Amino acid sequence: MTLSVAIHSKRFANGHCAIQDLHFTARPGEFVAIVGPSGAGKSSLLKIISGLDTAFEGRLQLPEAARVGYMFQEPRLMPWLTVAQNLALVDQTASGARLAGALERVGLKDCENLFPNQLSGGMQRRVALLRAFLVAPQLLLMDEPFQSLDAPTADQLRAHLLELWQGTQATVLFVTHSLQEALCLADRVLFLSAGPAHIALELPLDVARPRGLDSPAVQALAQELMQRHPDLLKGRVD
Ligand code: ADP
Repeated sequence: MTLSVAIHSKRFANGHCAIQDLHFTARPGEFVAIVGPSGAGKSSLLKIISGLDTAFEGRLQLPEAARVGYMFQEPRLMPWLTVAQNLALVDQTASGARLAGALERVGLKDCENLFPNQLSGGMQRRVALLRAFLVAPQLLLMDEPFQSLDAPTADQLRAHLLELWQGTQATVLFVTHSLQEALCLADRVLFLSAGPAHIALELPLDVARPRGLDSPAVQALAQELMQRHPDLLKGRVD
């Protein structure tokens, strides 16, 4: 689906302005990474786009009743429910062979009846990732979903994400503060300024996937960007 975002301003009750004059459009099936310093307004932006926060000035355009998936930093599984029951909360048809096949796709074969506290952090994120895709999202919002995982686990999850996404037409907004992660995943990267957030730089990427985090293409791109804009990750483009 096409998503069009035009936020004139987002101001909290205490007067703090988190977003000002932030505009972009995402194409159907486009993978957009959003990179910005801590406190820039990235989570606030996703909350507005998801519809959880309606107190802003501006306009969002997306299809009515669009199916939206949301994945957060924490897996947010219900601890008293099994993996199967957690997934059934979003999709009642996820049972039997369909569920077993879906779990196997993300490396969770035979985990149906385990409880979240029986899973590692990486396994819990896999369940959360699968849950986000079970709603067949037209728009998938991801707020630093692989943060605080060890490097090989995060690599595996990024590979699962791309595999699940590539079979769909979901438009993805993926928030991260890691330049390398953005460069290895996205079709386009939006760099936010320090708060109040606006788009400081937009970078289309025409590099074939898969692109490893440490691949020469990603490393070269990151180096070139940092040379051209040394303060980019602080939200400044000189
Ligand atoms: P990010 O996700 O980029 O780290 P956030 O969107 O969480 O940033 O926050 C953006 C800014 O808005 C920060 O300065 C934060 O302190 C502030 N902020 C977030 N939520 C509130 C709130 N409910 N009231 C006041 N200020 C807030």
